[in-house]
Amino acid sequence: MTVDRHAQLAALPQVDALVRGEGLRPLVARHGLPPVVAAARAAVAEARAAILEGDAVPTAAQLDEAIRETLEGRDRRRVARVINATGVILHTNLGRAPLSADARAAVADAAGYAAVEYDLETGSRGSRTGPVGDLAAEICGTPDATVVNNGAAALVLVLAALASDREVIVSRGELVEIGGSYRLPDVMAAAGARLVEVGTTNRTRLDDYRRAIGEETALLLKVHRSNFRMVGFTEDTSIADLVALGREHAVPVVHDLGTGLLKRADDGPLTDEPSVEASVASGSDLVVFSGDKLLGGPQAGIIAGRADLIEPCRRHPLARAVRIDKLQRAALEATLAAHARSARPLELPTEAMLHADPARLEERARWMVDELGDGARPVPTVAVVGGGSMPGTELPSHGVALATDDAGGLARALRDVDPPVIARVQDGEVVLDLRTVPPSQDGDLVDLVLLARG
Ligand SMILES: *Cc1c(COP(=O)(O)O)cnc(C)c1O
Repeated sequence: MTVDRHAQLAALPQVDALVRGEGLRPLVARHGLPPVVAAARAAVAEARAAILEGDAVPTAAQLDEAIRETLEGRDRRRVARVINATGVILHTNLGRAPLSADARAAVADAAGYAAVEYDLETGSRGSRTGPVGDLAAEICGTPDATVVNNGAAALVLVLAALASDREVIVSRGELVEIGGSYRLPDVMAAAGARLVEVGTTNRTRLDDYRRAIGEETALLLKVHRSNFRMVGFTEDTSIADLVALGREHAVPVVHDLGTGLLKRADDGPLTDEPSVEASVASGSDLVVFSGDKLLGGPQAGIIAGRADLIEPCRRHPLARAVRIDKLQRAALEATLAAHARSARPLELPTEAMLHADPARLEERARWMVDELGDGARPVPTVAVVGGGSMPGTELPSHGVALATDDAGGLARALRDVDPPVIARVQDGEVVLDLRTVPPSQDGDLVDLVLLARG
């Protein structure tokens, strides 16, 4: 290294001096010292690397600017409200189910001190999950229910409480991966249950289960293939047949429904989706499902069924580790209450979006196009349920296509406005699908698009 380089590196300010400087004072006030120090350290390291590549020493103002940009980027990585114009209703990356107005109000109420584990009648300690569990049981039509942090935790708890060191029989066609590291065989191993696979990938018969039942069998587990479809030469065992077999051998049947459609739907996109109601009617001993998929509530896991099977789940040491927090519980109670009042509670955004009338969506698209003027046109689109739910189910929808010669750039500009608009890029156009936009946001969406187009 030349003497010159040494001098240049020595000319870089120390991180300590930099963060004490006048220029960064507003940033320190806004973000606090630790984030500014971290950003300053990164900026100095970057400048050092650039100098070694032959660049000049940055000015103090340039360093301050780099630090400011880093901190702004951090702000944008926080959980932020967005407008979902993707047409994916349960968008996992956008928080799955949006909450109803009641559920949001309940969350705000519970945010302060709240009677979470406190019995207002007796003034003594109450049950955290008792009341919401009772509500879930009433809605599921089961003798008992309890709730935990999410669907995955619900299944882990059931396996740990009822099948530890024992065998659980599952069809090879149902050894699913839900996403990330959640793979059923691994989950079972982590919960301490021994997996007994039966049948083949595409066909599993009742006899396959029957032959596998033995002394060590703790449960028969049926898992809803919620995120993929099998077509062609396939054969499945119905819950009713599994239940009959389970009863013969006194082995409980657990149904992991995942998506959590409560009631059988006789019309619309949900017709083929298995429901809690149908599973319970078929005699499932336990059903397990998520709170933030088709139920339309917060992240949560519901376990409903026989009281003598739920009780060991409640008592298991893991129950504490996977317990629901007060905000989730408040939102879940409001969501379940909406389901209790109506078979199709359109006050839940997911229900409203699933059942939105395409003709009405088209009307909204036309209004929006009129407001936007040149470069916008109404287009038919295809929305989906998403969230790993109901693959292949297409929901006819409508949206607004924005003509542009740089679709990626426009999509980015839309993410840059406040609140950010998440759009779809399709055939070189940016498309805003209105099925996932609440009608109350139409006016905002127009303003935001105008802002993004500049
Ligand atoms: C989604 C899903 C889960 C996991 O539920 P989370 O609430 O996401 O933890 C488990 N099983 C099935 C079948 C699912 O669809």
